[in-house]
Amino acid sequence: MPIYEYVCPDCESRFELLRPLSQAAEGAACPGCHQSAERVLSVFACFSTNESGLAATVGGSSCSSCGATSCDTCAA
Ligand SMILES: [Zn+2]
Repeated sequence: MPIYEYVCPDCESRFELLRPLSQAAEGAACPGCHQSAERVLSVFACFSTNESGLAATVGGSSCSSCGATSCDTCAA
């Protein structure tokens, strides 16, 4: 079952809910105030982008050949 993220317009609390695809378009009751919360797009797509971006930064080098942080002599 896919997981969906909801934000309550009343108390602005965010919560996630596992539910079948057939109910994806339906609203969900807020666990806090039981108002009808709206579904928001999950940030799953951003996670992978952040991870690869972080991995690239951890290396600290822009040149894979000589390891210099700013290399314009041997960059492929
Ligand atoms: Zn609420």
